[in-house]
Amino acid sequence: MSDRAQILTSFVPVATDSHFPIQNLPYGVFSRPGEPRRVGVAIGDRILDLAVLGQAGLLGAHVATVFAEPTVNAFMQLGPDCWRAVRRHITEVLGADCPVLRDDAELRARALIPMAAATLHLPAAIGDYTDFYSSRHHASNVGAMFRDPAKALLPNWLHLPVGYNGRASSVVVDGTPVRRPNGQMKHPDRAMPDFGPTRKLDFELELAFLVGCGNELGEPIPISQAECHIFGFVLMNDWSARDIQQWEYAPLGPFNSKSFATTISPWIVPLEALEPFRVDGPVQSPEPLPYLRQSGPAAFNIELEAWLHPDGAERATRLTRTNARHLYWSSAQQLAHHTVSGCNVSLGDLMGSGTISGPTRDACGSLLEISLDGREPVTLADGASRTFIADGDEVILTGWVEGDGYRVGFGQAAGKVLPALPMAT
Ligand code: MN
Repeated sequence: MSDRAQILTSFVPVATDSHFPIQNLPYGVFSRPGEPRRVGVAIGDRILDLAVLGQAGLLGAHVATVFAEPTVNAFMQLGPDCWRAVRRHITEVLGADCPVLRDDAELRARALIPMAAATLHLPAAIGDYTDFYSSRHHASNVGAMFRDPAKALLPNWLHLPVGYNGRASSVVVDGTPVRRPNGQMKHPDRAMPDFGPTRKLDFELELAFLVGCGNELGEPIPISQAECHIFGFVLMNDWSARDIQQWEYAPLGPFNSKSFATTISPWIVPLEALEPFRVDGPVQSPEPLPYLRQSGPAAFNIELEAWLHPDGAERATRLTRTNARHLYWSSAQQLAHHTVSGCNVSLGDLMGSGTISGPTRDACGSLLEISLDGREPVTLADGASRTFIADGDEVILTGWVEGDGYRVGFGQAAGKVLPALPMAT
């Protein structure tokens, strides 16, 4: 028997380039007009309505009602053993050989909803949001531009996953318009700062994980246990205003330059779906302190792209193609470091990886790096050019892992930029 013959398939048709084969089964929250929000999983171009499956008694009594909730939080609360059991169960129900749903036309019609007919919402109630800074290429590129090429990495960078506490209140889902922020910035040739719309609006191509179960205050999560706390991953655009950032960031880090919006993709890809795609991350030298030491492959071979689609343009232009394997610090190291002080994380917390840049200009995860802070404009497919993002531009992030004959994908995280509001005085 060939390997191909053993590949798991669903009775639901799935195109070969679909992001949502039976190997993925990401969780999301959706609704149709006049109906309440509830939890489903993506399969091909359909959504499997888990609330309907629960009502039909197909998911076991202890999870029958959690999917009728407007976020995945109630499901996350049940813990990793339950997540694994439910995933196994859904895999079985959607399998080509399982008649339960396949041969029940009435149930199938209620439980399998065309994705095009549904609205996707923010999948989780996000309590706290932390953004790390874990790509060495990105940190080096930014350090060289903002400070000194000879000392691009600050002395702490190779010893701990640098991060800052962000704003959960402005995390939005794919498709939500993003308003260009006003703020304070200072031109190097002027004595005093200016105020107005940012002239350097940028994206940051990131992955993020959602904490599925937290820790008690005062009790750090050991690195060996860290991955048990991760529910799954989404794409994340950490929108940034570079001129505001450069003026405000010293000494406590970004504030208004990043707090105005953060876009995530609607489907949470379970950690289990990414397991077959583990790879070694970059070699860590010097060796991290014991509480950050990890064995085995801790990175994931996830292809990532950012596209820009100007208002009215015929097509989008790919700005970058990179890979999550470039991340120097792993998710487990981020979580172990985050909690080592005794800080408690909670279910629904969002943890961004930091901008993911590869070794070359066309693998950089921000326009700051691609355009060298505006010195080298990018030419778009329709002949226009950009140094930073213009009003009306839509930025689209996408990502996937390539399996043998299938793709486990993240869908997209897109947002269109609206002009800044005039400031009331
Ligand atoms: Mn960021």
